[in-house]
Amino acid sequence: MMNCKWYNVCPMKRYFEQGKLDEKWILNYCKGDWGKCIRYKMEEAGEYHPDNMLPDGSINKDL
Ligand code: SF4
Repeated sequence: MMNCKWYNVCPMKRYFEQGKLDEKWILNYCKGDWGKCIRYKMEEAGEYHPDNMLPDGSINKDL
């Protein structure tokens, strides 16, 4: 399966590489079912979303 087209510029990639984000997010969304990602949907719709919003739409204040 292809990666999400936003992966290279997505803050989730950066957080994962920095060791701040569990790999499950990458596997379940970015390299899995990215169509269900809230970040993806909002990006497509041109809607603002903060960098620390996770793929399920929840906010991680530690990011
Ligand atoms: S978090 Fe969402 S928008 Fe970002 S790369 Fe992963 S699937 Fe794509």
